[in-house]
Amino acid sequence: MNNGIKDLDLFFYPRSIAIVGASEALNSYGARYIQALLDFGYTGRIYAVNHNGNEVLGYKIYRTVLDIPDSVDLAAICVPNRFVPEILRSCVKKQIPAAIVLSAGFSESGEEGRRLEQEIVEIAAQGIRVMGPNCFGTYCPAGGITIVPGGHFPREGGGIALIAQSGQLSEGITGRSFGEGIRFSKVASYGNACNINEADLLEYLMQDKETRVFSAYLEGVKNGKRFFEIARQNDGKKPVVLWKVGLTRSGSAAATSHTGSMAGGSTTWDAFFRQTHAIKINTMEELIDTNVGFSCLPSGCGKRVALVSGGGAGTVIGADACENAGLLMPAFSAQTENQLRAVLPAVGTSVRNPLDIGNPHPPLAQLNAVLEAVASDENIDVIVIRRIFFSIKVSKFFSGTAAPSFEEQEQLLQIPISVKNKYQKPIVIILTEELTGVGDIDLELERRKIRDYFFSHGIPVYLTEHRAFTALANLSRFKERVGRPVALQIHTSSQSRQNTALSKALKDGRGVLLDEIQSKEILKEAGINVTETVIARSKEEAVKISQTIGFPVVMKIVSPQITHKSDVGGVKLGLKTARQVEGAYDDIISSVRRNVPDALIEGVAVQQMARSGVELVIGATKDPQFGYLIMFGLGGTLVEVLQDVAFRISPLTGEDAAEMIRQVKCYRLLKGFRGQPPVDIAALENMLLKVSSFVENNPVIKELDINPIIAYSDGAVAVDARIIVEREDIQH
Ligand code: ADP
Ligand code: MG
Repeated sequence: MNNGIKDLDLFFYPRSIAIVGASEALNSYGARYIQALLDFGYTGRIYAVNHNGNEVLGYKIYRTVLDIPDSVDLAAICVPNRFVPEILRSCVKKQIPAAIVLSAGFSESGEEGRRLEQEIVEIAAQGIRVMGPNCFGTYCPAGGITIVPGGHFPREGGGIALIAQSGQLSEGITGRSFGEGIRFSKVASYGNACNINEADLLEYLMQDKETRVFSAYLEGVKNGKRFFEIARQNDGKKPVVLWKVGLTRSGSAAATSHTGSMAGGSTTWDAFFRQTHAIKINTMEELIDTNVGFSCLPSGCGKRVALVSGGGAGTVIGADACENAGLLMPAFSAQTENQLRAVLPAVGTSVRNPLDIGNPHPPLAQLNAVLEAVASDENIDVIVIRRIFFSIKVSKFFSGTAAPSFEEQEQLLQIPISVKNKYQKPIVIILTEELTGVGDIDLELERRKIRDYFFSHGIPVYLTEHRAFTALANLSRFKERVGRPVALQIHTSSQSRQNTALSKALKDGRGVLLDEIQSKEILKEAGINVTETVIARSKEEAVKISQTIGFPVVMKIVSPQITHKSDVGGVKLGLKTARQVEGAYDDIISSVRRNVPDALIEGVAVQQMARSGVELVIGATKDPQFGYLIMFGLGGTLVEVLQDVAFRISPLTGEDAAEMIRQVKCYRLLKGFRGQPPVDIAALENMLLKVSSFVENNPVIKELDINPIIAYSDGAVAVDARIIVEREDIQH
């Protein structure tokens, strides 16, 4: 149930909160929640509620929310699981529009918990929005509300929003982010997502004026399809940063089709990241580093990096890290190199990118001149500085007397800031922990102070090359996508939704696996070009059909038990005469009888022999969270061996279809290889769009394989097809 996203405001800006389960015992969760709100400086009204009554932290305890004399915006429920439904019902009665259920012991913990959670879902439908259960609630500095424990969180807000199912991680990520300088607009720990899920929060936060970046830690999704649709509608103006965990291959073993067996695991999420502007995150560090980057550089940054190093040793490591992250390290212009040559000593330096100043504590004027030269180079989007001793203590440790004075250090810190401001070019600094022993903690303290100083002037500071370039690559991905037209032209078929061949096949009720002849009839009706195929029940019939169709023909076994026909000698190609047809008929029957003795043989399909061309596959399979996935790739009998396929979440846009064809390795073959003419890519794109709208219109389809489709310079034709339907839709 979605009562409108505006309702979610109450979770972040409640004017009054009833804390249900707040007892006199100060270590009770409810009492701790009140204490956290007080410490944080919540200015709205607080009501404590507990069936025992009495008083806590100076607040009268009401026995039920119904006893509260005023209206309440938000109920925070922290009572044992079995009491939650009853309390939620009283909240509905009291017309409290929003509730956070902090209590655990629901769907995450067995049968009884699942039942209780289902009860919450039903109560929510009566008119209350519920966050949780099993969560920590929300933190919103502008609304004065915080999670538990979070009384000490900063009151200062910022542009980053974070959502996480896990309470512990929402607290953990937020806590660590503060140290790096990140400030939040809103944080939501939404637990089991029984009513408010990731899609609701994404939709809300994309429209939230305080939020500039949406970031999330996702274990699973409750409504993948909606989450995908909202992410896809994002025009790219706000970064969507997603750390999705649990991308292992599972659940694909039971699939019957090629498409089904190759989907699963990370396939859907790979497609998700290709089809949306969302940025894929792999670790907590990357999430924080990326948010640090966006905090300083809200519109991201370009890909072309200049690496400025105070020594040659690490420049190769830096260049590798840069390239591995997908960034570029272009050559400087001749003018830049000349300027650099004029200020750097000839020996022990390099004026090429990656640039080596040759000295980790360069003279101030020299560093300034170097950075100015690089910043004015038009080939460069961002400057990354490494191994310059911004810390006096580090400098002293490594060079004794050459250490700069405090005044010099002050001036040194100003140089990157002033160059960045003067040239309006992003600068990023890598500041490593030089020494990591317990006794060296004062060096680390200074490193952090310098980090904070740079951060406060819009310069992100990272611990290592790898972390810096990984974050920068994410920022550049965002920049690249902003302004790119949003792909919203979802292809919808003009033909009627009802596919009569499909209805007929379902009525026949022979099973979930439709045979080649049925499948091709259905696809033909969906507008897909197929070879004409007719079933023969006898040798004589086979000859007659082949004469009508015209030689050469292809013959194939038709049996509900056989899915891979050529594996059992069930396919004969290139039959040119009636005698060959007769011979093939006998061969097919005897070979199938020998290989699969129990198979029920319905007949032999006779069909047009298609010209040779490039054999491709198009398929569809259902993902439990995201709906249909469409597959395209190199087809034929080796499809699973070569696995040269691309997936996209349906419904496809024209752009999706075009991109998936260009993604596979065999695209080179399609473009025309070794003198072959290029194949008709437009026809393939069209087929993909037709398959996508066909499955969208016919949710009874479980899996679909068209393998192969033979592609030519003029069009393409499906010569084999298999459709699997959902079991419950079979009519007997
Ligand atoms: P299966 O996938 O069940 O083994 P197919 O019907 O895909 O059987 O046939 C196997 C191979 O035979 C195809 O990959 C294709 O190379 C070829 N083939 C099948 N049908 C035709 C046809 N009508 N015209 C040309 N080649 C065909
Ligand atoms: Mg096949």
